[in-house]
Amino acid sequence: MKPEPRITVIGSINMDLVVRCDSLPREGETVMANSVSEICGGKGANQAVAAARAGGSVTMIGRVGDDAFAERLVGNLAAHGVICNRIPTTKNCASGMAVVAVNRLGQNSIMVVPGANARVTTADILAARDVIAASNILLLQLEIPLDTVLAAIRIARDAQVRVILDPAPAVHLWPEELLQVDLLCPNESEAATLSGATVGNLEDAAHAAGLLHERGARNVALTLGEHGTMFCNGRDTTLIEPFSVSTVDTTAAGDAFAGALAVCWSETNDLRQAVRFANAAGALAASRLGAQPSMPTRTDILALL
Ligand code: ADP
Repeated sequence: MKPEPRITVIGSINMDLVVRCDSLPREGETVMANSVSEICGGKGANQAVAAARAGGSVTMIGRVGDDAFAERLVGNLAAHGVICNRIPTTKNCASGMAVVAVNRLGQNSIMVVPGANARVTTADILAARDVIAASNILLLQLEIPLDTVLAAIRIARDAQVRVILDPAPAVHLWPEELLQVDLLCPNESEAATLSGATVGNLEDAAHAAGLLHERGARNVALTLGEHGTMFCNGRDTTLIEPFSVSTVDTTAAGDAFAGALAVCWSETNDLRQAVRFANAAGALAASRLGAQPSMPTRTDILALL
């Protein structure tokens, strides 16, 4: 039997409050909404769930607040098989939250309250050095402080653990050291922000991936939604074809992609094969409603492949 892929995810854990209304309120306006749902999210937590469902042994490192959401957020991760013994509670602090208003046309406005996610510190990362060093892959996003992400990258590098960075949300003041990762996986708009190039078609995407590689990313997997993934490893740049599905809701397709990518890369050491596996996971997530509930299992992914 192959050794189980050990993935560590360091990132955000949020409760998404999704409010459905006929039309979004304008400034100063009050509207009556139709419903509210509480949905566990955050890019870190979504990717941890995605990796666990794709077959990884996943440890999540992050923080929750001391509010009523905290227990549910951690319980939800645990229910998906994610190891949660490195998620301390921050006192006098709210858990991360996103207030998402959606109108009847599906348009939205979103307010994100970082809460405890903003309190994930370099000290937390140093305290978890043993977990990071014992993993095959460290998976990161940018919904926690940049200094913390950089500290995690350095620890992983010293321990020769491969680092995947999903640079979301993309930041304009981008420390170049953030690019010194084994695999960068931006989507189109993040790749445009980070490279300064337009990403409107496949040729642009290949160019942007090449620029990000030249600036230090060892490999780049630029995700292009229904068009698949532009992959650049410095020797060549190729489109890895998408899987055709009927699209229902693309929320968290990128998170499904990143989690599955980490698992398959760890198992096979073959990045092209891993991107193909991740494309299948992203396509399956896009064919289902919701974020974490739409994350495909390993069986689903293998069936599509
Ligand atoms: P993000 O959610 O970060 O914007 P993408 O939309 O680019 O990420 O999706 C990530 C990956 O998921 C894509 O590279 C692709 O392989 C797959 N994917 C996403 N949407 C679709 C779709 N509608 N049909 C097929 N595959 C998709």
